[in-house]
Amino acid sequence: MKADFSKRLKKLPPYLFLEIDKAKQKARQEGKDIIDLGIGDPDIGTPEEVIESLYKATKDPRNHHYPLDQGIADFRKKIVEWYRDRFGVRLDPEREVLALIGSKEGIAHLPLAFLDEKDVALVPDPCYPPYRGGVILAGGTVYNMPLLEENNFLPDLKRIEKSVLKKAKLLYINYPNNPTGAVCEKGFFEDVVLFAKRYNIIVAHDAAYSEITFDGYKPESFLKVDGAMDVGVEFHSLSKTCNMTGWRIGFVCGNEWIIRGIAKVKSNIDSGVFTAIQLAGVTALDIAKRHAERMNLIYEDRRDALVDGLNSIGWKTRKTKATFYVWTRLPAPYRSSIKFAKMVLDRAGIVLTPGIGFGSAGEGYVRMALTVSKDRIREALDRFKKIL
Ligand SMILES: *Cc1c(COP(=O)(O)O)cnc(C)c1O
Repeated sequence: MKADFSKRLKKLPPYLFLEIDKAKQKARQEGKDIIDLGIGDPDIGTPEEVIESLYKATKDPRNHHYPLDQGIADFRKKIVEWYRDRFGVRLDPEREVLALIGSKEGIAHLPLAFLDEKDVALVPDPCYPPYRGGVILAGGTVYNMPLLEENNFLPDLKRIEKSVLKKAKLLYINYPNNPTGAVCEKGFFEDVVLFAKRYNIIVAHDAAYSEITFDGYKPESFLKVDGAMDVGVEFHSLSKTCNMTGWRIGFVCGNEWIIRGIAKVKSNIDSGVFTAIQLAGVTALDIAKRHAERMNLIYEDRRDALVDGLNSIGWKTRKTKATFYVWTRLPAPYRSSIKFAKMVLDRAGIVLTPGIGFGSAGEGYVRMALTVSKDRIREALDRFKKIL
């Protein structure tokens, strides 16, 4: 049997990271010592308290059933508390909070709730790939907003043509940003709210890295801005905040109508997050502050080692205030991020993510994740020195 893939499936861009993954596996099989700066997945495990809490919750048969669609009351209540304490944002746990099977799930399902054919979604370029994928799978059209270094990796909303704005229904933004590591000021969020109201566009802010910050920087919530609750939602995840990527737990907060749309899609596709994982999520939010403080010292130390080291061998790399990524232009004379990444893997056994994998405006850059030890970062720098 070889049925034709649907048009929307065929429209999806190739998942570039899969190819890098294959090349990496092959190199490992050949016995090479690989330093993986590719994936953004914390190397340090989930905190012990969270694991204990899952263990306990799993033993209780009351937690073995289908979970409630919107998430258990304890988890939603804890999210509301966390938003109040961390961001000074007030939320209604019944109507403005929804548990997700990782934030990626909600991010990718959102377009199914609001986009029809010919509707446009405004998507940053480069970006976290599920924004683009979710829009295409829903049958919508992607409009790429380039994130340029000279504009501090913020989209220039004023440059979007009127004809596009007429059809635009959804806008994705993401600060602190993956892959660029950029952060934004509150003024940008205010501009986004005015823009969204003026053109009647839903805003989806992805705040996955709000807790991974350095140099005393603390981002605000998009929802804190006047009027944001009228136009948007904010996605959050325990993956990066609490080293829980494999657990699949996140949440979305904000505008009731948008939340209701996502919930309706989900009720037709999945049956929620395992209750015991939600209870572990309560513990995770309880310790999130302490945990992030500890992790951020580690990431900051690695960032300094990597960025200072790269700059000392001729790269021009800036220190970012947030996320565990270093986003840097290719050293001269290289131009193709894929060719560069392949060369570095072949000759130095270092995995990097080519910028073009995040969108065409990412070409000319590579992303390095700070999810390996400082010793390995030093080793990577030694190897760069030898091949460049
Ligand atoms: C890692 C990441 C997420 C988190 O995804 P989960 O599904 O919650 O694991 C969301 N957005 C961005 C930009 C990310 O890099």
